[in-house]
Amino acid sequence: MKIGVLTSGGDAPGMNAAIRAVVRTALYYGMEAYGVYNGYKGLVEGEIRRLERNDVGMILNRGGTMLGSARLEEFKKKEVRQLGVDNLKRFGIDALVTIGGDGTYRGALDLTLMGVNCIALPGTIDNDITSTEYTIGFFTALDTAIDAIDKLRDTSFSHQRCTVVELMGRHCGDLSIFSGVATGGEIVITEETGFDKRAILEKIKHAKVMGKRHMIVVVAEHMTDVFRLATDIEDYTGYETRATVLGYIQRGGTPSAYDRILASKMGSFAIELIKDGQFGKAVCGRGIEIFAVDIKDALTMERKRTDLYDYLEKIS
Ligand code: ADP
Repeated sequence: MKIGVLTSGGDAPGMNAAIRAVVRTALYYGMEAYGVYNGYKGLVEGEIRRLERNDVGMILNRGGTMLGSARLEEFKKKEVRQLGVDNLKRFGIDALVTIGGDGTYRGALDLTLMGVNCIALPGTIDNDITSTEYTIGFFTALDTAIDAIDKLRDTSFSHQRCTVVELMGRHCGDLSIFSGVATGGEIVITEETGFDKRAILEKIKHAKVMGKRHMIVVVAEHMTDVFRLATDIEDYTGYETRATVLGYIQRGGTPSAYDRILASKMGSFAIELIKDGQFGKAVCGRGIEIFAVDIKDALTMERKRTDLYDYLEKIS
């Protein structure tokens, strides 16, 4: 059997560990492994090369993805995807492991509907794949965000300021709420909490009146303009306020212990599914257990709201 593997969408720490596990487990079972470079773009353009054991050596501990990643909007068109399907046929590839976020899952589902044997792995710092408790890369990004907020807090405390920090996570506020709880942030603004500016300004003003020396406000990207919010907080509450957008710092870096282990287990499990002839599956993890659901179900499952929102109010 010939197995292809690609990484797509936003890179995430641990993608390399997953690639390594896919390739090495495939070789363990006597299969051939092929790297598809630069995501669906490389699939369409035929950037495909055979991978041996040593090709995936020394990558387990590295951030980013050795295969490269890309975004290709045109992949939503059937005639473009057909070029990818043709390339898989040309190389004789029997099954494709796709590692990425929800966009990548949609691409994998579309390929599945065109007859390609796909397995999808959740590789994204956003933790926005609802079928799995945690995605590969989430905890590393969380560590990065926590480290940054701890540093911002030093200045915030010293200068008696309110600090507004914007984190990534398009439609999933997990990075923000987990960071908020882990750093003692007072206010978290995500799609799940909604954005009631008046209530937030009142809360910060009240804290100032009560003698609170500094405040941390964590905001998920796209919720509001954090620089504007900082100005409004300063004007309304009298707190000197600064905003920081953490940006791409969150995406890179050495994967955490958890992400290395999760990625290794999930990558290896993908090959077990292929070996058993199970396709169109999304690999999931809950606790220490790894299992699979249909990709189409992974895309429609409802998001479980983290209970951390219930803690924030009480402990901040
Ligand atoms: P992520 O996988 O991290 O969510 P994107 O949303 O950018 O990242 O998706 C990655 C790629 O997946 C896109 O550039 C596109 O090639 C493909 N893709 C996204 N949505 C679809 C879709 N609805 N149908 C087919 N392919 C898609």
